[in-house]
Amino acid sequence: MKTSVIGFPRIGRDRELKFASEKFFRGEIPETELQEVAREIRELDWETQKHAGIDLISSNDFSFYDNVLDTAFLFNIVPQRYKDLGLSLLQTYFAAARGYQGEKGNVKALAMKKWFNTNYHYIVPEFEDDTKIELIGSKPLSEFLEAAELEVQTKVQLVGPFTFLKLTRFVGSKKAEDVADALTAEYGKLFAKLSGAGAAWVQVDEPYLVRDLDTEDLALLKKIYGQLLGNKNGLKVLLQTYFGDVRDAYEEVVALDFDAIGLDFVEGRKTLSLVKEKGFPKDKILVAGLVNGKNIWKNDYSKTKAVLSEISAIVTDPEKLYIGTSCSLLHVPYTLDNETKLPEEYKKHFAFAEEKLIELNELSNLTDEVLASNQVLFEKRVDSVDEKVRARVAAIKDSDYTRLPVFEEREVIQKEALGLPLFPTTTIGSFPQTADVRKNRSDFRKGVISKEEYVKFNQKKIEECIRLQEELGLDVLVHGEFERNDMVEYFGEHLSGYVFTEKAWVLSYGTRCVKPPIVWGDVSRKEPITVEWSKYAKSLTDKPVKGMLTGPVTILNWSFPREDISIKESVQQIALAIRDEVLDLEANDINIIQIDEAALREKLPLRKSDWYSEYLDFAIPAFRLVHSGVKAETQIHTHMCYSEFTDIIPVIDSMDADVITFEASRSDLLILDALKENHFKTEVGPGVYDIHSPRVPSVEELVGQLTKIREKTEDRKLWVNPDCGLKTRGVEETVQSLKNLVEAAKTIRLER
Ligand code: GLN
Ligand code: ZN
Repeated sequence: MKTSVIGFPRIGRDRELKFASEKFFRGEIPETELQEVAREIRELDWETQKHAGIDLISSNDFSFYDNVLDTAFLFNIVPQRYKDLGLSLLQTYFAAARGYQGEKGNVKALAMKKWFNTNYHYIVPEFEDDTKIELIGSKPLSEFLEAAELEVQTKVQLVGPFTFLKLTRFVGSKKAEDVADALTAEYGKLFAKLSGAGAAWVQVDEPYLVRDLDTEDLALLKKIYGQLLGNKNGLKVLLQTYFGDVRDAYEEVVALDFDAIGLDFVEGRKTLSLVKEKGFPKDKILVAGLVNGKNIWKNDYSKTKAVLSEISAIVTDPEKLYIGTSCSLLHVPYTLDNETKLPEEYKKHFAFAEEKLIELNELSNLTDEVLASNQVLFEKRVDSVDEKVRARVAAIKDSDYTRLPVFEEREVIQKEALGLPLFPTTTIGSFPQTADVRKNRSDFRKGVISKEEYVKFNQKKIEECIRLQEELGLDVLVHGEFERNDMVEYFGEHLSGYVFTEKAWVLSYGTRCVKPPIVWGDVSRKEPITVEWSKYAKSLTDKPVKGMLTGPVTILNWSFPREDISIKESVQQIALAIRDEVLDLEANDINIIQIDEAALREKLPLRKSDWYSEYLDFAIPAFRLVHSGVKAETQIHTHMCYSEFTDIIPVIDSMDADVITFEASRSDLLILDALKENHFKTEVGPGVYDIHSPRVPSVEELVGQLTKIREKTEDRKLWVNPDCGLKTRGVEETVQSLKNLVEAAKTIRLER
């Protein structure tokens, strides 16, 4: 059986591209040097795949920032404001990706959005009415030729025209349908050039096909590919889908003149049944995505073998069945070779990108021996089962998911107990993480300073932070989160059941990588995590201090999850661990506790019909389980980074928190209309200024913002706060912004 890899990580085994790009941004190296680093990364990536015996290897999966942005530049879909800067091509590209501020002008970056259900972000192309679609770039061609010169025959990966149009923002009066013909024609020219250069295969990525599609979408799809495949210029075209099944478009897709179709058998729950029920055309190749491109566990060969044998009952010609990755390997780290500290006992269960190549190879020609040695890995893993945790999860009762008394009663009791003014002011938790704060943590980690020194320093910081908030006149204080590197990793480190890597970086956006911790086994709390810090802060002031935790759904969503138990079970285990922390905080007189769920919205399934059964039906109860044990007087807050929950407002309300703070300063406050329409009961703190920018909002501006908010929200339910944590901000701008925020709250109190 032949093998295919959709795409390979591109940041470099040791994040070479990140470091070179950042040097280039700072003007420390010339473009030629950056290009050389990029070329070396591509070469190594191709050699690695060739060496592993992969048959279909991609070129053009490389990018300096993002492949969707590359596609926009390839076809001249570049807003005029970036061209007007008069920069070099690469500099113009980076200006669109990151914004530009300098002698040639001042422009903001294009918007960035999450790439489907991953933590990777793409740049949203903008189409202006006078944009003239034209094949002006040559990246796919030059990368194909570069590989060919190294004697690697590649398939050329392209973002498909359908997905590209669906993701593009049309800022004028034109719509996707109006420009589809023109774009398709330019893709056709590109096909001709690639074919002329000797390419045999192109891979068009169409992940948008796994979403809910309506008849107009299907018509657009058929129109585009009807034309494009009408003249393939001798190329073979692989339609590649991923991140789910293509249930709405299956019939259309198999009827089009593709030479091969790549389907996701890992995340696509219905893929196998679609193939079995609807059949698969005899003349086409099926590339079965069976090696998970998103998670880091070894493939279970016996399960994969079983699926392959079911597929071969339909695709009977062995020449026509390939095995591939479920999505690009961009979403997993490079290689286990980089992990020198992780014991073999653990490591042998993982497969990062390079190890997944070996898996593809082994699966393509599976012997009984290889199968047998693989199966040993799926017997009980060391340290993965904790009977106490299992028993606790099994003992959860329905009533544990409900906090009593009900919100309306609690609201009265809390107003009485807390005695806060109208429009209470607060922050989201973190205060500026200055260099000394980071150094204190890293010195402690490296053993340069003792635990006592580490704690003392943080206590000093907490004291400064409390004094500052008192001086500013904030109503609900925080300790500042100086002990945390990251809101998930910090909790992971204090939970048993987690393992950590050294260099398992995964691209998040541009040059930014994250290193998700791995849920290895049953999770429980080793010891109180935040209690000492919160207690210390509380001892310094008479004002209420808000305890600060990360919620179970966010903790799991930003980790590599287990595959041997369900996501629901993992979330329940984490919820019980965080519940213990909530109850300990309460027992230590912390009577306001915030449980952040920054990533709750993020993993909402791509199809609406899956929202509840596949996710919300366990995610929301998990959150409720965390806080249902507290007294009526204890006020539970939650925080979400985006206000993109207009479509699930009743669900957010049913988390049954007492207060929710969220980002609203960048959006146009539409969310507030929706909250009103839905009779949202939870008190709200719509962020009044954007903490992602160093700009200090004036008192007038904040009063203006609050006035608009008040038109749509009841005064007695309104909180005043920034839109997210302040950790990335400088001290000066933070102090000034918060001063103005408190002043603005006072102003509107007087208006009453
Ligand atoms: N409490 C966290 C902080 O203030 C929340 C961060 C987030 O929402 N991303 O940093
Ligand atoms: Zn946030």
